[in-house]
Amino acid sequence: MSQGIVTVSYIGATILFILALGGLSHPETARRGNLYGIVGMSIALLATMLGVVTENYGLLLGALVVGGATGFMLARRVQMTQMPELVAILHSLVGLAAVLVGFANFMDPNVHFTGVELVIHDIETYIGVLIGAVTFSGSVIAFGKLSGKISGKPLMLPARHWLNLVLVIAMIWFGREFVAGSPIGEGMMPLIIMTAIALVLGIHMVMAIGGADMPVVVSMLNSYSGWAASATGFMLSNDLLIVTGALVGSSGAILSYIMCRAMNRKFLAVIAGGFGTSGGSSASSEDQGEVVPVEAAEVASMLADAKEVMIVPGYGMAVAQAQHIVYEITRVLRDKGVNVRFGIHPVAGRMPGHMNVLLAEAHVPYDIVFEMDEINDDFPDVDVSVIIGANDIVNPSAQTDPDSPIAGMPVLEVWKGGTTVVLKRSMATGYAGVQNPLFFKDNTRMLFGDARESLDAVLKSL
Ligand code: NDP
Repeated sequence: MSQGIVTVSYIGATILFILALGGLSHPETARRGNLYGIVGMSIALLATMLGVVTENYGLLLGALVVGGATGFMLARRVQMTQMPELVAILHSLVGLAAVLVGFANFMDPNVHFTGVELVIHDIETYIGVLIGAVTFSGSVIAFGKLSGKISGKPLMLPARHWLNLVLVIAMIWFGREFVAGSPIGEGMMPLIIMTAIALVLGIHMVMAIGGADMPVVVSMLNSYSGWAASATGFMLSNDLLIVTGALVGSSGAILSYIMCRAMNRKFLAVIAGGFGTSGGSSASSEDQGEVVPVEAAEVASMLADAKEVMIVPGYGMAVAQAQHIVYEITRVLRDKGVNVRFGIHPVAGRMPGHMNVLLAEAHVPYDIVFEMDEINDDFPDVDVSVIIGANDIVNPSAQTDPDSPIAGMPVLEVWKGGTTVVLKRSMATGYAGVQNPLFFKDNTRMLFGDARESLDAVLKSL
């Protein structure tokens, strides 16, 4: 394939990637966005395979088949609730690829740069390996935390910010050694040492993040993986990879910023790692009083008598796969003239937009689904709020307990409404590991059990 056709294909793929990002910004257009992304990636792969990379098609096809089959099997087997872990491990692979390409690039006997060109090439390699290694180890730890294999508690090493600073200074120093040593064949050792330091930095940065702050880490690693891909593009002199990586990197950075704002955290503190990690925790259940259990039939009559109902879904709705039955109940109530709306917290569930995806899948109309900022002032007018498997996002201690790990995080103020019905299986805590005073309020009723079974019983009574 001629270089001209490759360039045109790359421009086409870039435009499709931009359209894909635009489409993914709203549930209504997300499907189309995905389609643009798939077509763009197919064009990019074909153009790269036919025009740029190699003549060794046997090896290339073998790698494609193994990689494609593994991805296909993983995507088929993964549960919706495991998506964040899958995303984290995929980010780690982008980081690992950047590290491997960096080393291969450095050892490539066919690369013959001299003077300024060699310096630029070495800096590209060094930065690519650095970002890749931080992304790789950070994403592996994020995977461990999201899947529960590693404790969600923040690792609070003494003087942890100083430790990060020393690691960064050491990497800059080894960078100088690398660039100086590369022309005389002595670059490998500084590169290896820096890689080890970057791996430690990635581990330390994510280990220091407290439970409820993980959403920001996930989007931040998303951004890092984009920059790692972009750095790989520089190393391979591949324009498409540079642009695509930059698109992922910058959109991930914007998402991190949005998540920081949603959780009232400082963006710079996130990049430095170990933010918002107060070690305190709220009082245990014994200190907080009695809860009032309720039966499904009673909830059904409360809902049928209400004029304004607000549904707040959380991670438990995803676990119970209760979104379809939620839609059925919504339909029945709307037919009875009840105004049903949904309040969505930006970090509900385990990934950005998690609840919107589930509700869209169940065909809940978009015009009754509201973001937290749009809906929070309306709770005093709500007769019944139904909290389906949500916990941290409706925890009032975020506003009242400065020692709580979720202190300062804006929450849905459901307790300001008439009655709050909470659906969960037990008195267990949410992701942040803190008890929720909402459950003990006078106007709260607890409907214990799996959310889908409880809602099934409510629907039958309706
Ligand atoms: P939480 O994790 O705080 O609470 C979920 C609740 O659901 C639990 O208390 C659990 O209680 C209940 N539950 C679990 N399974 C079921 C079931 N089958 N039926 C009924 N209830 C069930 O979820 P929230 O959505 O309120 O908050 C999200 C948390 O996740 C935040 O702390 C956020 O920071 C964090 N997070 C978010 C990410 C994102 O990008 N959105 C990424 C990573 C973390 P019980 O066991 O008693 O049933």
